Amino acid sequence: MKEKLKKGVIGFIILAALIVVPYTIANASARYYVLYLLDVWSVDSGKHLDWNGNTNYMSNWNTGVQTWNNYKSGVIRKDGAFTINDVTISDVNSLTANTVALTNQTYRNPGKSISATVQFSKTEMDKLSTVKKNIACSHEIGHLLGLDENKNDGTNLIMFNIIAYNTSNNVLHNIDKFHYDYMYNNKY
Ligand SMILES: [Zn+2]
Repeated sequence: MKEKLKKGVIGFIILAALIVVPYTIANASARYYVLYLLDVWSVDSGKHLDWNGNTNYMSNWNTGVQTWNNYKSGVIRKDGAFTINDVTISDVNSLTANTVALTNQTYRNPGKSISATVQFSKTEMDKLSTVKKNIACSHEIGHLLGLDENKNDGTNLIMFNIIAYNTSNNVLHNIDKFHYDYMYNNKY
């Protein structure tokens, strides 16, 4: 989280990146009381996340949308004529080294984002298998839902932030669902 200097215009920006480089994982004891949540989310008060934009990875994005909507139906929707945009997706040639995708959420106070974008690095995405592309999309959507990186509850979480380790499949872990439930029931 980084404070911008133009106070009163934009308060904060959260940048959350999915990376490819493995690192050593420290052992962590059970931490039942820790919630891995962001101060910002992009779901509106009607409990919808309305997206628009374009990407080369549209089938993967749609799979990511379906992954979350299969758990809570109808939350994530493509922008229509009567919806207000919550996030715009796009591709860039590359991001910071080793970054697959980047979610950028701008907000004044903790709560619903003022604006949000997801950018995919074509350089890194093109190296990934289909299942990993799907995981990358599901992971970024998790940030839009208000979920933070979770480095402590297992590499098979969608919200684990290193896709080199998150190789199992594009399936929500019970802990991903727990955090989404918390956001859905308490924050949106
Ligand atoms: Zn992330």
